[in-house]
Amino acid sequence: MVETCYIPKDLAEALRIRKETGAHPIAGGTDLMVSHRRGTGVVPKFPWPVIIITQLKELQKIEVEDGEVSIYAGSTCHEIEVSELVPYQVRKAASLMGAQSLRNLATIGGNICNASPKGDLPVPLIMLDARVELVSATGKRQMLLDEFIDGPKRTKLQDDELLARIIIPQPKAPFTYLWYRKIGTRRANAISKLSMSAAATVDTHGIIVDFRSANGASGPKVARSRAVEETIIGLSVDVLAERLPAFLDAYDAILSPQAMPQYRRSSTRKMLEHFLSEVSRRPDTTIIE
Ligand SMILES: Cc1cc2nc3c(=O)[nH]c(=O)nc-3n(C[C@H](O)[C@H](O)[C@H](O)COP(=O)(O)OP(=O)(O)OC[C@H]3O[C@@H](n4cnc5c(N)ncnc54)[C@H](O)[C@@H]3O)c2cc1C
Repeated sequence: MVETCYIPKDLAEALRIRKETGAHPIAGGTDLMVSHRRGTGVVPKFPWPVIIITQLKELQKIEVEDGEVSIYAGSTCHEIEVSELVPYQVRKAASLMGAQSLRNLATIGGNICNASPKGDLPVPLIMLDARVELVSATGKRQMLLDEFIDGPKRTKLQDDELLARIIIPQPKAPFTYLWYRKIGTRRANAISKLSMSAAATVDTHGIIVDFRSANGASGPKVARSRAVEETIIGLSVDVLAERLPAFLDAYDAILSPQAMPQYRRSSTRKMLEHFLSEVSRRPDTTIIE
């Protein structure tokens, strides 16, 4: 049972309804239907009008323009995991979400706007400096995804707006090392206990010219610190091993002590140590599994 359910035919109509009624969007419904469930076989009840946006073709594209990848908000996890336009870590994160049946429904827009600290897609997207584009009947605006997600279950979305797309900029130089790891209770249908996305670029002289790392399920929102990353950037891979303990201590300090018990902190440390030791060891462009 819902108060009122709108099914707009296109994005312009959806934005007009959103402006006039403030109806809440439903995309795949895999978060909303569960959070408002009332029991087996009973239709969920929403306390506000809803607007179904699953059918909006304008929100179902993945494209590249001027080197930037745009994943529109209605793209499902399955569409993302099979798209060759999407960076490796985002595809990998999408491929490990829930089971196939969930990935056919769950959208990237829903995963971001749900703003769960355990949500998987924001982790590689924040690591890649992704921006969001928000649209309303009166215009559009962009901001960094890291700023859009304000805290647990909180975003900067206004009542008349929809998330239209996520834009992933091109790194200055292609990454030479790519990595994504999710730790859950089991292989399928498991919410992350910890996840990490990392990338590095090493030039032909063995100098680390770019390094990024972001952690999910490790605090109120995705943990990332450019200042800590910069302590690694500019180093030769030859000195990485000796600088690693200081770097790992600095990284540990950005993880929330409340959200991260000791075993999760030491897992994070081991994952980073593994990634960086592989970076110093391997000669070529590679995905580190
Ligand atoms: C069994 C199960 C397993 C799961 N496993 C995982 C997992 O492994 N990893 C993980 O991260 N999550 C997981 N989830 C959570 C969920 O599936 C994801 O967060 C999913 O991406 C939500 O997308 P959706 O389209 O279904 O969102 P919906 O439920 O439709 O919406 C979620 C929120 O986003 C808002 N919203 C949706 N689209 C827009 C838009 N375009 N603009 C503005 N607001 C919007 C809605 O109003 C709502 O507040 C799981 C859920 C279930 C039930």
